[in-house]
Amino acid sequence: MVLAIWLLLGWLVCASGCRPADDQAALIIDRLPTKIEKIRVVATVGMVADMVRGIGGERIEVVQMMGSGVDPHLYKPTRDDVRMVMQADVIFSAGLHLEGKLAETLARVAKTKPVYAIANGLPASSAIRLGDVQEGADPHFWMDVSLWATAARALSDWLSAFDPDHAEVYRENLRKYLGPVEELHEYALATLRSIPEAQRFFVTSHDAFRYFGRAYGLTVIGIQGFSTESEAGLRRINDLVALLVDRRIPAVFFESSVPRRSLEAIVEGVRARGGNVVVAGPLYADAMGEPGTSTGTYVGMMRHNIDLIARCLRGESSDAEAASSLSPSVDSLVRSGGQRP
Ligand SMILES: [Zn+2]
Repeated sequence: MVLAIWLLLGWLVCASGCRPADDQAALIIDRLPTKIEKIRVVATVGMVADMVRGIGGERIEVVQMMGSGVDPHLYKPTRDDVRMVMQADVIFSAGLHLEGKLAETLARVAKTKPVYAIANGLPASSAIRLGDVQEGADPHFWMDVSLWATAARALSDWLSAFDPDHAEVYRENLRKYLGPVEELHEYALATLRSIPEAQRFFVTSHDAFRYFGRAYGLTVIGIQGFSTESEAGLRRINDLVALLVDRRIPAVFFESSVPRRSLEAIVEGVRARGGNVVVAGPLYADAMGEPGTSTGTYVGMMRHNIDLIARCLRGESSDAEAASSLSPSVDSLVRSGGQRP
């Protein structure tokens, strides 16, 4: 018993930061008391809540901490959040330090209950390392839909070990959850391949799309941190402007949770050189759309991103308003089996 508790504590400390080896994880996961009616869960961001709802189904009651339009990198927990976390049986985060300002709270909570980072379900080799070793891995792994599917399988395994009486339910829910996700990955590959090769160049307001670019063959530049106030910053902007003009890239993108003003210097620069570039968006990167709308689910938000990027980089929009409304109803796309109407 004492050994089990020590092993459990070891895993809990590990859960928010490092990655336990798979065989160890199977040994040290705590078991849920079997009599519990529903597992109360707090999920940090919308995408995580989406996966946990999908795989947990009826067995799990999910409260989502951060809503639409909230930047998880900067989010600080409120008193209500802390209360919710204290009342929950399990906390699910995305991990890889996406929820940077929550780290302390999660580490504290992990001393008394499981805190599971969805990113822990990925092989270490799949992570995109950031330049500095200190910085660790890029957290935006859900942008590669195939990695999201891998993480979903791992979550189903974890829940099955945590709550073994309902393992069959989690496996069946996983099967249902994965159908549209796997279809979405194929759809992304096919759709983004339709962009002319010279225009597969994707400029966006922050650095959330590296996994997306790697998975779907686009060169990605996130311009957060490009400053017009230093010479080096201006030089970077000028280089980027030259590239956009030379390659006739028709669009740059803004995101729902990041201010779009960082793109303005670039658009002005392109226009000053006689080119034209549309600011298209919003893309949904770190937060999903409002619940009940077409972008309010993981599959919906990603399909919106894929369609908007493909259409705008093919040059099929002439202004930002058109770009924003170009994406057809995602529900209709989902219903039509992923084929563009
Ligand atoms: Zn981000």
